[in-house]
Amino acid sequence: MKIVGKTDIGLHRDSNQDAFRIMALGPGAGFAVVCDGMGGENGGERASSIAKKAITQAMEESFSEDLTEEKIKPILLRALYSANSNIYRIASEHPELSGMGTTAVLTFLFRQKAFCATVGDSRIYLFSKDAGLCQLSKDHSRVQDLLDRGEITPEEAKNHSDRNKLTRAVGINESLEIDFFDAELLSGERLLLCSDGLTSCVEDEEIGEILSQYSLEEAAETLIHRANDRGGYDNITVVIVEG
Ligand code: CA
Repeated sequence: MKIVGKTDIGLHRDSNQDAFRIMALGPGAGFAVVCDGMGGENGGERASSIAKKAITQAMEESFSEDLTEEKIKPILLRALYSANSNIYRIASEHPELSGMGTTAVLTFLFRQKAFCATVGDSRIYLFSKDAGLCQLSKDHSRVQDLLDRGEITPEEAKNHSDRNKLTRAVGINESLEIDFFDAELLSGERLLLCSDGLTSCVEDEEIGEILSQYSLEEAAETLIHRANDRGGYDNITVVIVEG
């Protein structure tokens, strides 16, 4: 298994409020997380960085060599709850950080499987040569709700005024609702974790083409370049795992 990760400030923002971490924990086991912070001038950067740290610490503490699959879901949920309570507490102690929060897409890689926990509109995709690109995560956003209810078309969703409004984020409430799923990651298949700075500028079809054509490192570079070529309106983060 190979993993690469890259983040870029984009062309229009003064700071990079995205954060990512990739880490090997044992033979054939490791995790990757992408966070996209929000909330005020400093809040977004603080929130994603607190989440990254809390999740890393929780994953390191929970991992053991005798881990079994049924233990993984509670470990991932605990890691995101820990991020949630840390951000919420720090925000309540510092009025200037009030309302800060972050997305978090976390994947734990274990025995050719990816176990995933997600909150917000950062995404996880699976790419295989046969099936192409498939979005595994669901956006927790106002626009996704409208799409689900059939009130707008996918075309209208792209430029909708509410497209940045999240219905869930880590750190903004005491409680947190988390999606969990797992997927097989076969040899040669790729898992992509990314922030919306990529997906708001580059279409899924093009993301799939890039993942099919380039080596891991070049694919990460190319995805970021392509988002910047298309405007680079937001911070861009990509992590690619190859099974
Ligand atoms: Ca973003």
